[in-house]
Amino acid sequence: MVSSTCANCDSMLEQPWHLFYTCQFAQACWEISDVKNEINQSPAELESFAEWFFHILGKLDMERRQSFVMTLWGIWHSRNERVWNNTSPSANWTMSHANDTLKEWLACNVDAGFDTEKRSFAVGMVVRDFNGSFIICKTSLHHGTALVKEAEALAIHEALSWIKGMGHDKVIVESDSKTSVDAIHSEAPDLTEFGLITTACRVLSRSPSSIKIDYIKRQANRTAHSLVKTALQQACFGISYIVPTSISSIIMD
Ligand SMILES: [Zn+2]
Repeated sequence: MVSSTCANCDSMLEQPWHLFYTCQFAQACWEISDVKNEINQSPAELESFAEWFFHILGKLDMERRQSFVMTLWGIWHSRNERVWNNTSPSANWTMSHANDTLKEWLACNVDAGFDTEKRSFAVGMVVRDFNGSFIICKTSLHHGTALVKEAEALAIHEALSWIKGMGHDKVIVESDSKTSVDAIHSEAPDLTEFGLITTACRVLSRSPSSIKIDYIKRQANRTAHSLVKTALQQACFGISYIVPTSISSIIMD
């Protein structure tokens, strides 16, 4: 049976506020994290885990938000190790394990672009590791017309099939098409061409369940956008294992 006392310190009730913040084990993890200062400066008047969580999140830039969430995940993971496997992970182990796990994740930016004169469109995808280093990219040309949202959804679909085909299963696919991403996450039936594509994306993303599809703002998706645009201009499509010049300046940013 899972007891209600905190598995990490065996003294207090296991509530989120305790487990992730006031527990001495959590404090030891935060102490060696990148967000130590923000955690130490948590205002005393915060009253719940949710308030604390959003307060800290608001203090951090994108990179350190990842450290914050990574540490939360690590604390939870070590708690499970104690409860289910009867082991006693240290704070150092917790942080290094969480860091290693996070580093296995890849991000794949996707986009679509049109050549209305030639009645064709292209999709592109750029895969990077957790640190933002380039790994591989791909563009492909599709003949015929499509709605913008259809082309965007096709780009996501192609990225999902491609990534799964390469054997990666910890991937976040990022698209700047909110319409497509929302439709993929929705369960509402849609029998249009667009609906069929987004349903296929949903099916592909479900197994393994560690594939995520996220909406990002346009300016954060410049690599994929520029990759597709240049591929259409040069009528050159395919896979590249080295950073194409069309996106090298953005990748270096
Ligand atoms: Zn505790």
